[in-house]
Amino acid sequence: KVRVRFAPSPTGGLHLGGVRTVLFNYLFAKKNGGDFVLRIEDTDQTRYVEGAEKYIADCLQWCGLIPDESPAIGGSFAPYRQSERKPIYREYAERLVSQGHAYYAFDTPEELDAKRKEFPNFQYGHQHRGSMRNSLSLPLQDVETLLHNGTPHVIRIKVPESETVTFTDMIRGDVSFETSLVDDKVLLKADGMPTYHLAVVVDDYLMKISHAFRGEEWLPSAPVHLLLWEYLGWKADMPQWAHLPLILKPDGHGKLSKRDGARLGFPVYAMSWTDPKTGELTPGFRELGFLPEAFLNMLAMLGWNDGTEQEIFTLDELIEKFSIERVSKAGAKFDFEKAKWYNAEWIKRQDAESLKLKVAEVLKANGVIVNNEAYLLKIIDLIKDRCVVLADFGPQASYFFQAPASYDVNSVKPKWTDAKTAFFNELKETLSYSSFEPADLETRFKALTEAKGFKIGDVMLPFRIMLVGGKFGPHVFDIAALLGESETLRRIDKALE
Ligand code: GLU
Repeated sequence: KVRVRFAPSPTGGLHLGGVRTVLFNYLFAKKNGGDFVLRIEDTDQTRYVEGAEKYIADCLQWCGLIPDESPAIGGSFAPYRQSERKPIYREYAERLVSQGHAYYAFDTPEELDAKRKEFPNFQYGHQHRGSMRNSLSLPLQDVETLLHNGTPHVIRIKVPESETVTFTDMIRGDVSFETSLVDDKVLLKADGMPTYHLAVVVDDYLMKISHAFRGEEWLPSAPVHLLLWEYLGWKADMPQWAHLPLILKPDGHGKLSKRDGARLGFPVYAMSWTDPKTGELTPGFRELGFLPEAFLNMLAMLGWNDGTEQEIFTLDELIEKFSIERVSKAGAKFDFEKAKWYNAEWIKRQDAESLKLKVAEVLKANGVIVNNEAYLLKIIDLIKDRCVVLADFGPQASYFFQAPASYDVNSVKPKWTDAKTAFFNELKETLSYSSFEPADLETRFKALTEAKGFKIGDVMLPFRIMLVGGKFGPHVFDIAALLGESETLRRIDKALE
């Protein structure tokens, strides 16, 4: 059975690359009728950040990528939080020691520092292992005494001196590593907690994970994981890995980082995140007014396409069309303009009904309380094609509820004449006899314009500014029709004052 996992460390907000990792895991699982597991890798207590786990769960919720098993939901492989699985890992670390694939290391931080000073490229491995204080270099007697006295120690993997380890990546094909370049990674820390390397292998095995999609930045860790799968005797059960291409800066130079977002003025986090220690707020796509459908669609296209020109996909379509063969090895450039294009397309595709709550919320933030739902639905239909992010509904919809508090006078004042004042006073008369349907309003407006010897441009813009306050919005007669007769006439009056 296909079982995939997203295994984040709760160290902060979720970068869009993290959500793409979730998405690809999810698509693969759902396409193959499998399970999607959320496992929290919180064994590094120095990097643990309060609130990050909840943020991750909320984020998956917002995206609609709901796990089948997770700390909150539970499942037959619980617990799903590694800190709650602490006793499990020691057994495997000890087993590796007794089989000669790992060893106890008693070096103090000071001793390690001294070595690093002495050898600038110091790696704890075959070159230096012999001159360090560990169970491979010390006499058995000493090791026993040290252990007996409860001397703080870690367990390290014994990486072979010169072997080539190879695995087949679903995206990259065969990938090989020389073990001579790999250091003896710590597996179990002095506090008894496993490191990521041990925990990820043990849990992928115990949780029967069949496929694992993770970011390319984890590729250098793969040789350690491969050795562990082999030494623990589980090689046949090793999940198939796919290391996903990096998401690059817009100019293609290097990996996209949180700082690029701040520098270039776009979000890189899925949802806003406030660091509990510094209070620093990192903005997110959700708060900017992205629809989750658009966010996922955009992420899916960062490194994948279905081989056609199609760009808009629902989650169901992605599940149906997703194939690992079409994920590219090359990094994918993040393009914020394109991201906004996806969102605009998705807003257009929504019906008013499914946008109404979100729009009402945006309006509320703009000081507008909606109490007429039918009216709101009509407004949404009229303006949604002009909104790129949900926040755009603020300026685009507010004037339907509140007469403009100020006007873009610079656009009309310089060319204003008494004849124009007369035109608008007469327009009020003309319009009151109209049906107040857009086409009828337009016909009457144009007839009066002609009769008074104006060009349409002379009076159309002022009319818009009277109703809206500025030079924006949909067709002006659509606006007037929706505002209705009395409100339209009132706004003309008010503007003429
Ligand atoms: N805990 C790792 C992370 O924070 C998981 C890497 C993996 O998927 O193996 O991303």
